[in-house]
Amino acid sequence: MADNNFDAISKKLNNISRRDFMKFCTVMAASMGLPLEVAPQIAEAVTSPKRPPVIWLSGQGCTGCTESLLRPTHPSLEHLILDLISLDYNETLNVGAGHQAEEAMRQSIEANSKQFILVVEGAIPTRDGGVYCMVGGRPFMEIVRETADKAAAVIAIGSCASWGGIAAAEPNPTGATGAPEFLVGKPVVSIPGCPPNGYNFLSTVLHYLTFKKLPDLDAKGRPKFAYGRLIHENCERRPHFDAGRFATQFGDDGHRQGFCLYKLGCKGPQTYANCPSILFNEVGGGAWPVGTGHPCFGCTEQGVGFAMPLHEQADLKFITPAADHAPVTSDRGGGVSAAAAALIGAGVGVAAGAAAMTARRLAEADKNDDGGEAS
Ligand code: SF4
Repeated sequence: MADNNFDAISKKLNNISRRDFMKFCTVMAASMGLPLEVAPQIAEAVTSPKRPPVIWLSGQGCTGCTESLLRPTHPSLEHLILDLISLDYNETLNVGAGHQAEEAMRQSIEANSKQFILVVEGAIPTRDGGVYCMVGGRPFMEIVRETADKAAAVIAIGSCASWGGIAAAEPNPTGATGAPEFLVGKPVVSIPGCPPNGYNFLSTVLHYLTFKKLPDLDAKGRPKFAYGRLIHENCERRPHFDAGRFATQFGDDGHRQGFCLYKLGCKGPQTYANCPSILFNEVGGGAWPVGTGHPCFGCTEQGVGFAMPLHEQADLKFITPAADHAPVTSDRGGGVSAAAAALIGAGVGVAAGAAAMTARRLAEADKNDDGGEAS
């Protein structure tokens, strides 16, 4: 990493020290599920003066994705993103407007054909020739198709761009859809969320810059490093779920004590995302929907967020707890050795014990669900 490149980026990051910067790169490597040895490569990419051009198109959306990326509590994320990329066009942030902005975009696309990253924000309405979203007098869908043809990579940011989000909710009057479905045959990375977590976008761009390829994706086109685990697996309220302790009304005793929100409609058990691990707004523990006492509504999961009723109970994909959770039941005595007891605790107590207890408590609570607590 060249000294003058590092000095330039350090200044913009509140004079971050070289040591802290390397720590940051190591954390980014870990968050992408990569070996820590790649941290120097990431540092090299971050400090490289060559920045990939980005064309950011906004369609049928609320601009919340741009806002959440660029207005964090702490300025590092905003600076990192804007220093990593050359944001040549973004309607929310453009200084110019009208023909001037359109011309700047055209010139950037021509000059950087097959080299720029296209970011799509918002859904793409396709009904009636796309007349429900016009930009510069042209249907948004035409602009997306044309621009994607010339892009090196396409990122769909937010739930609307990923599969239509709220705009595609029933009855979907504008025929709204997401970039992956619209750009058939073109690989698109989806970073769903309403809004998506800025670090997932940053990590995806970093991966592309460092390795010149997109990260591994799941079947829905989401980076596996961010959407590989169910929210339910890493939720801090999970021990309450395993022990059968639920809030059943907003503001009841269970809710005040931080019990599990499953009975209030939490979709964590069928939603894949890293929200409980990386949190939001860089303000510390608890800064994510479930942490603040609201059930997860499944915004990162197609077919859940904007599709299922808010307070409908989620499908339980599986109820065995994470392997590192303490058991919620334990057998006493019975002539087993200490070592065997430990094994039972780790293997059986956690997996089978908690699963059985959870199933029993859920069944009991459903039977006499008169508004009281399940425990
Ligand atoms: Fe957390 Fe929701 Fe799972 Fe309860 S149901 S443990 S609140 S993710």
